[in-house]
Amino acid sequence: MRVRDGGPIVTVDGPAGAGKSTVARKMAQKLGFLYLDSGAMYRALAFKALQHGIDLRDESQLAGLLESSQIDLVGNGRHEPQVWLDGEDVTDLLRTPEVNASVSLVAGFRMVREEMVRRQRSLASVGRVVMDGRDIGTYVLPDATVKFFLTASLAARARRRLNDLLALGFHPDLEVLGEEIRHRDALDASREVGPLRQAEDAIVIDTTDMEVDRVVDMMVEYFRQRVS
Ligand code: C5P
Repeated sequence: MRVRDGGPIVTVDGPAGAGKSTVARKMAQKLGFLYLDSGAMYRALAFKALQHGIDLRDESQLAGLLESSQIDLVGNGRHEPQVWLDGEDVTDLLRTPEVNASVSLVAGFRMVREEMVRRQRSLASVGRVVMDGRDIGTYVLPDATVKFFLTASLAARARRRLNDLLALGFHPDLEVLGEEIRHRDALDASREVGPLRQAEDAIVIDTTDMEVDRVVDMMVEYFRQRVS
């Protein structure tokens, strides 16, 4: 068992729509750990860049914007986690089709990632955290106690994203959504810095036909075996 200074760290990586944030949040709740959604940090930056009309291909402008932005992941396990940007709750504004379409572009820049990774490591240093993302087990927190990599078929992932968006009042086309996810995965997997990748020591779970609670129970059980 490898435990960081502050206590155990769990990482959950995988492609868009594999169920990472739902299961990571529930797992954190069950363990009494802090849930840290690294994707929300990239989403907050993309959201702010869109609001400010910043050219999404301009790395130094995006890095400058991030430098002057305060992004807080707020949650104590009892409430739904919130994302605050410069002192305002933006939780419900980060999963729109516009942010979905821009976030991988913003997340692809080295200067942006270096600063995000610095912030993510600092957030995780307290220990007793579950952090989800794309490069958490491979790059951000390679010494994590337990690493998971979640996958699911493209069709299942598109259906999940459709349900998320319907709940937010959007009515996207399922096929178009599938294409968007495929495109985002390709960008996330092919970038030079912090690509989406499975850590060699990660436990892989295919969630295509699994209920959320079953996945969470498996992960919690595995974690307990590892740390006992
Ligand atoms: O997890 P979520 O879908 O909210 O992440 C949104 C986007 O943020 C991803 O598609 C990816 O481009 C970026 N991301 C990243 N590295 C992470 C987490 C998210 O590049 N660790």
